[in-house]
Amino acid sequence: MVVKDMMPNFDLFQPTQLKDALGILDSYGKDAWKMAGGYDSLVWFKERIKRPKAVVDLSGIAEMHGIKETPDGVEIGALTSLTDVERNSIIKTKYRLLSDAVAKVASPQIRNVGTIGGNASQDARCLYYRYGLPCYRAGGNTCFADTPEGVNREHALFDTDRCIAVSPSDTAPALVALDAKFVIRSTKGERVIGVEEFFIGPKVDITHLISVQPNELLTAIRIPKTWAGAHFYFEKVADREAFDFALVNVAAAIVVSNGTIERSRVACGGVSAVPRRLTVVEEVIKGKPQGADIAKLAGQSAVRGARPVNYNQFKIPLMANLVTRAVRDARA
Ligand SMILES: Cc1cc2nc3c(=O)[nH]c(=O)nc-3n(C[C@H](O)[C@H](O)[C@H](O)COP(=O)(O)OP(=O)(O)OC[C@H]3O[C@@H](n4cnc5c(N)ncnc54)[C@H](O)[C@@H]3O)c2cc1C
Ligand code: SF4
Repeated sequence: MVVKDMMPNFDLFQPTQLKDALGILDSYGKDAWKMAGGYDSLVWFKERIKRPKAVVDLSGIAEMHGIKETPDGVEIGALTSLTDVERNSIIKTKYRLLSDAVAKVASPQIRNVGTIGGNASQDARCLYYRYGLPCYRAGGNTCFADTPEGVNREHALFDTDRCIAVSPSDTAPALVALDAKFVIRSTKGERVIGVEEFFIGPKVDITHLISVQPNELLTAIRIPKTWAGAHFYFEKVADREAFDFALVNVAAAIVVSNGTIERSRVACGGVSAVPRRLTVVEEVIKGKPQGADIAKLAGQSAVRGARPVNYNQFKIPLMANLVTRAVRDARA
């Protein structure tokens, strides 16, 4: 019988200082697990699929909580709850795209406990991987989803390499559109990286969706003021209205002057292992009047090069329509 409700033993650490947490990660290396709100972590443990020797509960580290305005924009501690991000007045007034995206994550209960850092760092939701099967992402040498009979309607359209799982996070495309920077700390110091370096696909590392190393922590996310007050659009389509991951979502930040699109950043989740920035769309719409015609062209350009698998072909028109609506309907 498979026991699914009892976790294997581990050493639990509950540091209150960042330096102590980093020291523990250094000592345990790959055997340590970082836990924020625990919504992703605890499921892995209960299913007995991930069996870390040590769990570092980060929730007591005060300096990783909270939101503050800075001269360059806004800095959000990685442990800030999704609810606090959604309700924060700076985010709501200047970077509404992020609060709109957060509002679409899971349920109010999950948003009360789940953190912005955990949401951006969450693992792939592919059913085979979550079931504990030895696929590529789990260190094996096959993909169970990429077969003629594989359950793959939720899988990727772009940039697949052995694994066809997608980025499941609703906040990730909004962070791409807002050109967020990620503050990563280890005992050796701090590095600040952009979204293209933070989110990684199977060509870079097939076993992880983010580039944070075992001895490192994501401590904060910075949103530059470059996009403050832009026209924003977020939309998510899932199989049901509540409590479900996106089939496809879209996030757009568009600067419009006298009706003309000056610059933009547009991204979709649910279509590749990383939230996919749509630079082709950004180029197509630059300098054009915001309206239905250019929006339709944007939607068509967004899906160029898509390579569906057996059961996810519906994602192509879905993605095109979402991008069309984002470009047409983004508002201040
Ligand atoms: C039923 C259900 C429905 C859901 N629906 C959605 C949805 O619709 N949209 C959506 O976007 N998400 C959804 N989620 C995912 C949920 O939002 C995430 O699991 C949650 O946000 C993770 O946050 P957490 O703080 O609980 O992270 P944890 O579970 O603690 O951590 C998640 C992962 O991130 C790593 N991690 C956490 N913090 C850090 C850090 N500071 N530095 C480095 N690594 C870190 C952990 O090691 C772990 O691998 C759903 C989850 C459940 C259980
Ligand atoms: S899509 Fe990726 S996670 Fe899913 S079975 Fe294939 S290799 Fe594993």
